[in-house]
Amino acid sequence: MTIPFRILDRLRAGRPLDEEALRRVAEGATREPEDGGWTDAELAAFLMGVAVRGLDPAGTRALTRAMLESGERWDLAAELPTVVDKHSTGGVADTVSLVLGPLLAACGVPVVMLTGRGLGHTGGTTDKLEAVPGLRLELGRDDCRRLLAAHALAIGTSTPAIAPADRRLYALRDRTATIRSLPLITASILSKKLATGAAAIVFDVKSGNGAFLREPAAARELARTLVATSRSLGRPASALLTDMSQPLGEWAGHTAEVRATLEALAGEGHPALMEVTFALAEEMAAQVGQGVSRADLEAAISTGRARALFDEWAAAQGADPAWLARPDLRLAPVERVVASPRAGVLARVDTRQLGLLLAEAGGGRLGPGGTIDHAVSLRYPRRLGDRIERGDELLRLYFREDDDDLVGRFAAALEVADDGEAPELIGERIG
Ligand code: URA
Repeated sequence: MTIPFRILDRLRAGRPLDEEALRRVAEGATREPEDGGWTDAELAAFLMGVAVRGLDPAGTRALTRAMLESGERWDLAAELPTVVDKHSTGGVADTVSLVLGPLLAACGVPVVMLTGRGLGHTGGTTDKLEAVPGLRLELGRDDCRRLLAAHALAIGTSTPAIAPADRRLYALRDRTATIRSLPLITASILSKKLATGAAAIVFDVKSGNGAFLREPAAARELARTLVATSRSLGRPASALLTDMSQPLGEWAGHTAEVRATLEALAGEGHPALMEVTFALAEEMAAQVGQGVSRADLEAAISTGRARALFDEWAAAQGADPAWLARPDLRLAPVERVVASPRAGVLARVDTRQLGLLLAEAGGGRLGPGGTIDHAVSLRYPRRLGDRIERGDELLRLYFREDDDDLVGRFAAALEVADDGEAPELIGERIG
């Protein structure tokens, strides 16, 4: 009997897997079968076994550790003991990372974020940063150390050397209906986040119809598991539950979100975007023992320090200084307005559908490896619970080419009714 068979048999029977078994799985995922690695069939069976049977907290911790140890570990906090990281489970019109990084760095708290690309209805920070010409996103350990020492900020994309086991497992999860498994999500996110070796991590876990996990109870459970697993592996962590039952800010689309970021750093940020950004920034500072108050954050913006730091950091990461001095952030040329067919209250937004339609219009990635038109965007000017008059603008769309059918489907994603409520933006804090 092969080792994979014995481990899979144990999993099928519902018996706990020990550290050694989970280490074998992670090692098996980093090597091809001809080099002693596991086959896709064996790994897929493992994933389905975990998705169906679950893992206990010790198993989740062991799988996370094994996946983490499958790649490089940087230990950035050894040189910068207050360097902090944030992870968001992702949403629509959510530009928090791009605002929060320079903002917190301008308050003296170094920030490292290796971010992902967007897929499906959510945008990825890495993709958004591609709207800044020249910005280099592939960052290795020495790049991060240099950027953090000089500018207290490094934002890029995860390199293949980090958690290689996750790359193979994640691609298989996509094909085997095993994305939605708490231990697998936890091990996947944390194996990458722990690899940079920030001193602490804060999670922004979204709930609502535009979130990765819609139900508040599921989002809370994920937040608890992420925080508990991170702590059990020696890394301080906490989480905020935040709302994604409507787009977070006013703009979605890559170029538009960079524009919204620069507006936010100039003191003209959307209130909801700023509220979540400030709350997470305070939480991150607190996790690394730095007292940064709301007033400190506001002062970093009003004095221009946060925007200056964005420019310095972006230039150090390769952005064109001429572009930074006069950013060209033009949106796609065909503008269409979705107006309200009736008076009432904005009662419901299908946030996920807005993100998917934006992707379909060209502004997002429909499948792995797909391309993005950064200028395709949407403006969401009203909020849930707002009083609406007939004919009021509910959405403004920026397309490359006109498309009546798509406009109709955008319109169907919003509902104005007799009653509706504004959701609570920031829910529970966990940790
Ligand atoms: N993001 C990840 O990196 N992994 C998951 O499993 C889910 C979200």
